[in-house]
Amino acid sequence: MEISNSTLQGFESIPSRLMECQNRLEKNLAIHGRDKESAQLIAVSKTFPPAAIEQAYQVGQQAFGENYVQEAVEKIQSLKALNIQWHFIGPIQSNKTLLIAEHFDWVHSISRLKIAQRLSDARGSDRLPLQVCLQVNVSGELSKEGCNPREVKALAEQIIKLPNLKLRGLMTIPEATTDSEKTKSSFAQLRSLHDDLKAAGIPVDTLSMGMSDDMDIAIAEGSTMVRIGRGIFGERARR
Ligand SMILES: *Cc1c(COP(=O)(O)O)cnc(C)c1O
Repeated sequence: MEISNSTLQGFESIPSRLMECQNRLEKNLAIHGRDKESAQLIAVSKTFPPAAIEQAYQVGQQAFGENYVQEAVEKIQSLKALNIQWHFIGPIQSNKTLLIAEHFDWVHSISRLKIAQRLSDARGSDRLPLQVCLQVNVSGELSKEGCNPREVKALAEQIIKLPNLKLRGLMTIPEATTDSEKTKSSFAQLRSLHDDLKAAGIPVDTLSMGMSDDMDIAIAEGSTMVRIGRGIFGERARR
């Protein structure tokens, strides 16, 4: 996809949308008696140009999520001067692990051991470990990325042995539905898998769940990282 500044109209509203999201996040945390710092907002900037990212950065947003490796690497390089924490949240092909390990701080979307091994090898020991989450397909959709819930513990036990990765927790994208009870139950399931890992002595602290339309439900179910795209940057053009 071509990223040009001619698509910049409307980006003036990014700071105010971001503040709205941040306020909404804090309000929901308060409702559930949670600490203000207990969940973090990841701004999902896929398909938006560096200028849009800068708009959000200038009002204090430092964590950004990207889905497409090639597009992301171009933006990361053009924004090198900024102190941004980059989160990879998209599907991972094995021939892209080198670029991901080189350019990102976090990866939320690991669903196979082979990918984790390649990321660890590519990261090398001279850098901080790559912070990673296992993506879980809790709703069991056939087309969906993510490991089977039954594989989570075995995979986590393998991943914590990899030298250049630091397993932080679990991520999910629930089935697209208007039935909020279904969404809630997917998030509750991820939280319970996370609790199981902790009970097994695996030190995880991250539940990456919740997007623009289901952020409030995710916070109610214990999310520690919400990944917000449209709520901050507006609607995306179709890719
Ligand atoms: C695009 C995307 C998001 C953000 O979705 P919005 O609905 O725009 O908030 C979050 N997580 C993942 C994995 C995505 O691909």
